[in-house]
Amino acid sequence: MAAILVFSERDEVAFQLLGEANKLGEQLGMEVAAAALGLSDADGFLSRGVSTVYTAKNEELKDFEASVYAQALEQVAKQADAAIILLGSTRRGKELAGRLAQKMKVGSLTDAGRLEVIDGRVVCSRNAFGGATVAAQTILEGIQVIAVSPSAGEAPAAAEPSGSVAEVALVLEPARIKKVATAPKSQDSANIEGAEVLVCVGKGLAGEAELKMVDELAQALGGLVACTKPLATDEKWLPEERIVGLSGKIGKPALAICLGISGQVQFTVGIRDAGTIVAVNTDQNAFIFQMADYGIVGDLHQVVPELTAALKG
Ligand SMILES: Cc1cc2nc3c(=O)[nH]c(=O)nc-3n(C[C@H](O)[C@H](O)[C@H](O)COP(=O)(O)OP(=O)(O)OC[C@H]3O[C@@H](n4cnc5c(N)ncnc54)[C@H](O)[C@@H]3O)c2cc1C
Repeated sequence: MAAILVFSERDEVAFQLLGEANKLGEQLGMEVAAAALGLSDADGFLSRGVSTVYTAKNEELKDFEASVYAQALEQVAKQADAAIILLGSTRRGKELAGRLAQKMKVGSLTDAGRLEVIDGRVVCSRNAFGGATVAAQTILEGIQVIAVSPSAGEAPAAAEPSGSVAEVALVLEPARIKKVATAPKSQDSANIEGAEVLVCVGKGLAGEAELKMVDELAQALGGLVACTKPLATDEKWLPEERIVGLSGKIGKPALAICLGISGQVQFTVGIRDAGTIVAVNTDQNAFIFQMADYGIVGDLHQVVPELTAALKG
């Protein structure tokens, strides 16, 4: 039976992909397989409805290097008879998707949002024209390599493990990139994609010191502070990992509060699936009010402390 093969270098993303893979598998009559390579956790897959988990113990897989993982996945895909390969659309996953598709001479889509089956093919929703519209796109022929945005699916709850583990003997060329040293990145582990509440801040903020006020509001709501691109890349008041939007993270929070943000489309693609959007802006004509469920025309310096005080109330 043809299979849907799931892989991500991050287990939590792979588990989310399984939610989508299981749905597609039911509709297409395909079994769901997973590649647990490198650090992946085979048991985690078996308890989430995977029929076969492919593992490999090659030394070359110890560190993630996209060219090596592309070789590995090509071999696993053959063994699994994969018709669809779902990867996480993380930075590494996107590189992997391109490399794998090129090796297999098949089509690839990255940054896929919603997936649906039409005429036996998977049709993906993807932002197009800089996020101004959403396009439905599909790979017309052959194996489909699709990298899915991490926030698009939900991981199935872990249950009694079933399925089997197949160890594969992979023949891998060593990486052409040699790692000479590793250094910790300025680490920001905030999970913007998975946050239930995001307090997003933009250029309406007058200075870095005011982030304290924004942080207090986020804490009162049990949420995370995120930002527009200029606050991270130009002002450097927050790490780039906190950027929401086209070149940052795509969230799906229950509540998104947008403070001093104009609402350019490159930002709004990152929060448009939020359950409720609240905007605070001094300009009553700001675009953000067009998509907000609740809007406050006002100065964030006055509104934010009042909101926090009311919440702590
Ligand atoms: C290829 C590309 C990719 C991009 N990707 C991203 C992305 O991923 N994410 C992203 O965010 N941007 C992205 N951008 C940038 C994007 O186009 C906008 O420039 C950016 O989102 C604007 O940020 P902002 O809303 O904070 O600033 P502005 O557009 O300057 O808006 C500031 C807002 O604050 C309001 N304001 C001012 N003072 C106050 C106050 N005291 N109280 C309340 N409101 C106040 C103003 O009325 C205004 O509406 C991208 C751009 C390009 C070209």
